[in-house]
Amino acid sequence: MTLPTPGLPTTGLPTLGLVGLGKIARDQHIPAIAATGLFELAAVVSPDGDSAGTGGVPCFRSQAEMLAALPGLDAMAICTPPAVRHGLTVEALRAGKHVLIEKPPAATLSEMQDIAAQAQAARRTLLTAWHSRFNPAVEEARQRLADATVRSVAITWKEDVRRWHPGQDWIFAAGGFGVFDPGINALSILTAVLPAPVFVRSAELHVPANRDTPIRAMLEMRAAPGAPVGVVTADFDFLQQGEQTWSIAIETADGSRLDLTHGGTRLIVDGVPAMAEPDSEYQRIYRHFHRLMLDGASDIDARPLHLVADACLVGRWRTTDAFHW
Ligand code: NAP
Repeated sequence: MTLPTPGLPTTGLPTLGLVGLGKIARDQHIPAIAATGLFELAAVVSPDGDSAGTGGVPCFRSQAEMLAALPGLDAMAICTPPAVRHGLTVEALRAGKHVLIEKPPAATLSEMQDIAAQAQAARRTLLTAWHSRFNPAVEEARQRLADATVRSVAITWKEDVRRWHPGQDWIFAAGGFGVFDPGINALSILTAVLPAPVFVRSAELHVPANRDTPIRAMLEMRAAPGAPVGVVTADFDFLQQGEQTWSIAIETADGSRLDLTHGGTRLIVDGVPAMAEPDSEYQRIYRHFHRLMLDGASDIDARPLHLVADACLVGRWRTTDAFHW
């Protein structure tokens, strides 16, 4: 989508407000903003008022307070859990800000559709930042598969929620995505690299007795008849002990095998390492956001969210043991 007017200020760096100062904002966004040097981090929103580690930039309790106090901000990066993201994104767009949103970009498909429409109406850049796609190994896999016939894909995305999301109760609350919070990263890679779309045919979803969202999900996806993609399976598990696995194994009809491992940061082709880069996904995200603003464009993709929603529509639901941190 191209917007009629480019969105960068004529002097100085574009100013950015960071909304939601949790794990991902601190671990990735703040270091990437500093390392790329393309934005000035001008303010943060932290509902509990804790802004440690932000270099003393102004801190507000809500985005509304930030927008009222600093109306000249150019852009927002929204790093909250998904349930509140639609309201914050619409508020920012209506205030004339360009918006980068963390994955998943919205809690529902209707909200997703609305924020895309609102960005277009406001003529502002919107980036749905599927961070796993910003690995060079993912782009390399996409290029290698562009003219291939894919026989099968097996996604194994298994991690220990207690280790990676300690105490994040929102993940298990309605609208928090459960194991699809990491799983949607695999689906963002899948939808980027496959030469044809796939559709969820069946799913099994395990929800702890005391929670709202799945702790395990197993999906089977297939392409339309005649498309160059065979069966795709995904196994998402939040109770993995020992080795943690974020891998996608792809077999093509000509007998080749591509393994995207470590969350898509490494590519192995027929058993031989083909690409491995240190994790710099977020620096690429900020460069892409800056470029989109410069070009007056947006980058909006809801396909991974559609697959999660479809799994919830066609899935068989099972109640499993209660989950406690
Ligand atoms: P988190 O540590 O729980 O942080 C979320 C932050 O958002 C908290 O500081 C929370 O503040 C704040 N917040 C909640 N509602 C808000 C509102 N209305 N306005 C402003 N701030 C608000 O969660 P996270 O791990 O950073 O994850 C956030 C998002 O990033 C999720 O969608 C996740 O999928 C994505 N992500 C996470 C990771 C990761 O490794 N953790 C990686 C990639 C992407 P309070 O605590 O004060 O409520």
